[in-house]
Amino acid sequence: MTVTVRFAPSPTGNIHIGNARSALFNWLFAQKNKGRFIQRFDDTDRARSRQEYADAILYDLHWLGIFPDAIDYQSRRFERYDAAVAALKEKGLLYPCYETQEELDLKRKIRLSRKLPPVYGRDALKLTLEEITAFEGEGRKPHWRFLLPNFPDDPAKPRRTEVTWTDMVRGPETVDLASVSDPVLVREDGTYLYTLPSVVDDIAHGITHVIRGDDHVTNTGVQIALFRALGSEPPAFGHHNLLTTVDGEGFSKRTGALSIGGLREQGIEAMAVASLAVLVGTSENIEAKTSLDELAAVFDLSATSKSAAKFDPHDLFALNRSLLHRMPFDAVRERLGALHVSGDRAEAFWTAVRGNLETLRDAAAWWAIVHDGPDESGEVAPADIAFVREAFDLLPAEPWDRQTWKVWTDAVKTATGRKGKALYAPLRMALTGRPSGPELADLLPLIGREGTLARRP
Ligand code: GLU
Repeated sequence: MTVTVRFAPSPTGNIHIGNARSALFNWLFAQKNKGRFIQRFDDTDRARSRQEYADAILYDLHWLGIFPDAIDYQSRRFERYDAAVAALKEKGLLYPCYETQEELDLKRKIRLSRKLPPVYGRDALKLTLEEITAFEGEGRKPHWRFLLPNFPDDPAKPRRTEVTWTDMVRGPETVDLASVSDPVLVREDGTYLYTLPSVVDDIAHGITHVIRGDDHVTNTGVQIALFRALGSEPPAFGHHNLLTTVDGEGFSKRTGALSIGGLREQGIEAMAVASLAVLVGTSENIEAKTSLDELAAVFDLSATSKSAAKFDPHDLFALNRSLLHRMPFDAVRERLGALHVSGDRAEAFWTAVRGNLETLRDAAAWWAIVHDGPDESGEVAPADIAFVREAFDLLPAEPWDRQTWKVWTDAVKTATGRKGKALYAPLRMALTGRPSGPELADLLPLIGREGTLARRP
C-alpha cells in the first residue's frame, strides 16, 4: 500500500513553527517512503475558517518546500460525514443527548463527589420517549455522542477497555476507553466536531500513517474505536512532542512574530525554519541543513523526544547565519537580483559579504556601501583624519585584486609607523562607515580606486 500521510490544520489563522513541525514530519516521512502527502483543511467551523488562511498556509508550505500531492477541504465533504452519521445511528452507536452545558457541569461535580471518574454517565441512554418528546417540545435540540465500546453488555457499566497501538514516536501506547467520555460528534446545531470528519477522511483518503502533535494521544484511543465502528482498520499513528516558547507556553495561530510568514518577513531562510522545526527536541544535532533531502536523511520519527521542545528564536538566527555563510552564489542569484545586486561583480561581492550577513537583505546594505559609499552610520574620528588622508595618498595604481589591500596597508605601515588596530580600524571606517564587516581585501577591489578616493575624508 502506498504510504499516505496528511497535514490537517484548520484554516483559522497563520501557521507557526509548531505547525510547520507537523507538516514537515509528514512531508519527510512521505519522501522517505516514496509516499503521498495530502493537504487537508479542517474547515468544518465555517465561522472561523477562511479561504485566505488556507491560501496562506499553502503559500507557507510551498515556501518550506512542501508540495502536496492533493488538497482537500472538509467543508466540501459534509455528505460523507452525514453518511457516516447515518451508519453509526443505524448501528446504535450514536445517541442523542439533551443536556445543557450547565447540566453537564453539575453532573460532573456530582460524579466527582461520589468518587466516580468525571466522564459522561450516559444518562441520555435512559431517556424515555416522553422525556425526549418533552425536550423537543421545549425546543431543545440534541447533540450526538458516540457510544464507546467500553462495556461487556450494559453501557451503564463500563469496564476498563484498553485500546493499544505502537506509536511511531512514543512506542507502546494505551488509552482506557472507560476513562473518557463518549465523545460528542455532532453539535446541537448539526455542525461537526473534529473527531468524526477526521476519521471519515482518513479512511476515504487511504491515510496509512497519521503523524500529529501529542495533544491528540487521547483522541487517538477514541478515533481508533471510531475507525473500527466505521468498518475500517486504523492507520499507524505517531505523536510528536509539541514546541513551546522558551517560557514553556504553547504556540497559537495568533503568535504573529513566530508565524511562518512573520519569520519569512524577518528574512529567515526557509531551510533555517525547516531545520529547526524538525531537529529541535530530537536526538539529532541542531544544525542548518541546506535542503529538505538533507533533512530527510537525518529525520527519524523515533528519535523525537517525548517531552515538549523549547523553541528559541535566537537559534533560528544562528542557523540563518550559518546557511547564508555557506550559500553558493547560484542559490541566491535571483533573490540578489531582486535586491538590485547584479552584474559582473555580483558573485565576487556575494562571496565577500555572505559571512557577515544576518539575513539576505543585509546584502543590499553592503552593496550600497560598496557602490555608493558609507551610509550615515559612522565616520572617521577627527583624530584619525590626517592619518587616513595620508594613507589615501598612498593608494596603489590599478589593476586591483585581493593582494592590493596588503600592498597598500604595508606601504601605509612603513610611511606612518601605525600598525594593528590603529592602522586598520580608521581605514575600515573610511571605506565602509562601519567598525566591522567583510574582509577589506575582498571589498577593496570591488570598491575600486576611484570609489575609494571618493571616500577620502
Ligand atoms: N485539525 C486538527 C488539528 O489541527 C488535525 C489533527 C490531526 O492531524 O488529526 O489539530
